[in-house]
Amino acid sequence: MSRSAVWHPFTQHATEPVPPMIARTEGAYVVTLDGKRILDAISSWWVITHGHRHPKIVEAIRDATETLDQVIFAGLSHEPAERLASALVDMTPAGLDWVFYSDSGSTSVEVALKMALGFHRNNGAPRSRIVVMEHSYHGDTIGTMSVGARGVFNAAYEPLLFEVDTIPFPAAGQEQRTLDAFERLTRDAKVAALIVEPLVLGAGGMLMYPASVLAELKLIAERSDTLFIADEVMTGWGRTGTMFACEQAGIAPDILCTSKGLTGGSLPLAATLATDAIFRAHYSNDRARTFFHSSSYTANPIACAAALANVAIWNSEPVAARVAALSRVQAQKVARFKKDPRFENVRTTGTIAALDLRVGNAGYLAAVGPRLRAFFLERGLLVRPLGNVIYVLPPYCVTSSELDRLYDAIDEAAGLAGDKR
Ligand SMILES: *Cc1c(COP(=O)(O)O)cnc(C)c1O
Repeated sequence: MSRSAVWHPFTQHATEPVPPMIARTEGAYVVTLDGKRILDAISSWWVITHGHRHPKIVEAIRDATETLDQVIFAGLSHEPAERLASALVDMTPAGLDWVFYSDSGSTSVEVALKMALGFHRNNGAPRSRIVVMEHSYHGDTIGTMSVGARGVFNAAYEPLLFEVDTIPFPAAGQEQRTLDAFERLTRDAKVAALIVEPLVLGAGGMLMYPASVLAELKLIAERSDTLFIADEVMTGWGRTGTMFACEQAGIAPDILCTSKGLTGGSLPLAATLATDAIFRAHYSNDRARTFFHSSSYTANPIACAAALANVAIWNSEPVAARVAALSRVQAQKVARFKKDPRFENVRTTGTIAALDLRVGNAGYLAAVGPRLRAFFLERGLLVRPLGNVIYVLPPYCVTSSELDRLYDAIDEAAGLAGDKR
């Protein structure tokens, strides 16, 4: 066979091994062509919630294809999108009354940013500054890279990125510094919106901060008429222990982005929810105030049907109890590393556990990630450390003994860090 024509995401083809071919997925596992079962400890990049190929989602997809495929969503509507929108309004924090569909986490964030600027402009007081949190990640498009942390991942594109204002990450003991920085930035009434990943900064290294900070940021935003955008693309659908992370702070954002777990991870779909005030700012006899955005696959009916099946699973199965149990188990199991000198910052929020491997220098750090990945893969475990940060973000169907196997491997892997090459 000739070489593969596939250019993989976030993959250095010069140094990384040829990826195994996955022929099948099932529950907490992905299965290779030659039948090797690999435990998906990162939920296939954080999308799979219940488990791979939940029967009800598979069935809903099959059923939907009997009657619908893509339908243009400007000027036409369809039942799966209508039903899903009202379900999302019911399930999300109060006041998020409008649902705008797109097809990925990144587009849901782009939509949020455009809504925020449109809101202020249409209300006659244009604002364009966006405030972001240090270490944040909101996607890989030009706009979402602009509101994310700058680094090696986007250095080449820096000339195209727009300027933002950054507030420090609210590390333990430094929360006030974050709040003060935001307060200062909002004083000149030029800030259109604050965008944050509530409770957990995912790609930034599974950094966690308390709900109280989120609540305080929301208060400052309100006082300065700054829109509050909650990027719940990763944190939604039970990941942090509650349906949405914002619930833990008792806040309702002005705009909420959801994607990854929306279809249980089965199909690409995203939604940006907005308040009535934001919708009203775009509602006018003046067609220039229209919200000018669309993706070709906006509200794909099959993806909407998959999302409706996901909602039905939440309503008919004890998912909340499963999430609570997994959250407890994760906290118990990762606790064994709390006094282990090879690790630091052992932490959990809901179903997510993370810990930092202590490594000597940054040069070495660059090498440790791929080596760890290979180490885990050899043992039938799909784990993708973020630099020296090892995290476990499994589908909710994972069992306690599967997690034991995983944490035993993490224990063993820590030996790699001490092993000088
Ligand atoms: C993954 C992620 C995104 C981007 O989602 P894509 O579907 O990969 O475009 C945006 N925000 C957060 C917080 C994410 O974790």
